Amino acid sequence: MFNSIDKIASWAKAEGFIYPSSEIYGKFAGVYDYGFYGTLLKNNLQNAWVKSVVQKNSDIVLIDSAIFMHPTTWKASGHIDCFDDPQIDCKKCKARHRADILLETYGINADKLPISEINQIITELKAKGTVFKCPLCGSTDLTPAKRFSLMVKSNLGSPTDALTEENVVYLRAETCQGIYLNFKNVLDSTRLKPPFGIAQIGKAFRNEIIARQFVFRTREFEQMEMQYFCHPDLVAKKYAEWKNARIEWYQEYGISPEKLRFYKHIKLAHYASEAYDIEYQFYCLGNEFKEIEGLHARGDWDLSQHSKFSGANLTYLDPKTNERYTPNVVESSVGLNRILLAFLDNAHTTETLENGQTRDVLKLDYRLSPIKVAVFPLLKNKPDLVAKAQEVYSIVAENFMSEFDDNGNIGKRYRRQDEIGTPFCVTVDFDTLGESNAELKDTVTIRNRDTMQQERVSIEKLKEYIQNSI
Ligand SMILES: [Zn+2]
Repeated sequence: MFNSIDKIASWAKAEGFIYPSSEIYGKFAGVYDYGFYGTLLKNNLQNAWVKSVVQKNSDIVLIDSAIFMHPTTWKASGHIDCFDDPQIDCKKCKARHRADILLETYGINADKLPISEINQIITELKAKGTVFKCPLCGSTDLTPAKRFSLMVKSNLGSPTDALTEENVVYLRAETCQGIYLNFKNVLDSTRLKPPFGIAQIGKAFRNEIIARQFVFRTREFEQMEMQYFCHPDLVAKKYAEWKNARIEWYQEYGISPEKLRFYKHIKLAHYASEAYDIEYQFYCLGNEFKEIEGLHARGDWDLSQHSKFSGANLTYLDPKTNERYTPNVVESSVGLNRILLAFLDNAHTTETLENGQTRDVLKLDYRLSPIKVAVFPLLKNKPDLVAKAQEVYSIVAENFMSEFDDNGNIGKRYRRQDEIGTPFCVTVDFDTLGESNAELKDTVTIRNRDTMQQERVSIEKLKEYIQNSI
């Protein structure tokens, strides 16, 4: 287990899961790249989510909307007017701080407070004699808090055009807006009628003042969102169902119930009727519970706003009751990078073995493990063994993400696979070649990551054996 975010970050880099972006140029703050194992783990998490949310629910479909959207989308959603963080600059060292985080160090919770209230709190703090200073240089010469928009701006069209309000485009700040804008398309082009849901996985961008805590908060990130559209009378029932289903999903994939909890939002947006976060207790973040998913009952706010700004009719006429209404939304919003961090934090274990040595094991659920099978020839310098092992590799690689490794001794190769969470290691030895015992010809040893037990399995049965275990 990693008792700090820096430790998990350096482990993730060394093991090929996550690299800092643009490292050869001295890194690009708040942005990360995923290596081979990180990419595979991310794909497996996406697949597990799609299976649970889409595949098992006949009333939910998947879409993939574009990152660029009509700029009015963000006017309608409220992002242009009020999607911002309070910013305070240090006039001496030029450091940029988030006012609410700064106030946290004075024991004040200023989360989501308006700028005027934040400045009021700071004035009162100073009046009481508290030294309100820059945490980096200690200077008290700070600007008042001001709005800092989280929207990432760009422009399309002629690159020589100034960045004016006419040609500005935003990189989407959340994927759900693409779902709202396609509500009518899905309704018109599929057999679905409310209640139904639309799910989407994709990138979103936020100009965080301070991106920190590794992939927990980044400027470019991925969301897995599901918006469920239903009659207002159905909201409470559907909300309760989704709330249950979502927390159970984490448990199904190996996170123990004690490390998960719901956090109820007391202050709700004016249109919302319920808002809970699912929080995970991050060992690498000082054992603090932190948000990994949001569950929101959003009323008819989203469709009503887009209807108002676009002029499109986003109501639904129920043919049975003849009632026309704007469907209400129950939302599940998962931060993919955050849950990836949570699953790594949860899975990394250091075990003490009987002989007193330790081993690091990434105890991921087998379905999430980046590599399912590693294939080794017992010795590197025996061409017969290597050729046979390559043959076995091509058989298993047909069905599972696999790795071939002939570096170092067997013990080292096992440890390497344990560290990245590979459930099975297959070794091709002299018995496989049938050299001493004809009965063992075309059998291999298969070693389990968690029990470290080895079994002898015929190459023919290998696929079935692994399939049944995963
Ligand atoms: Zn400073």
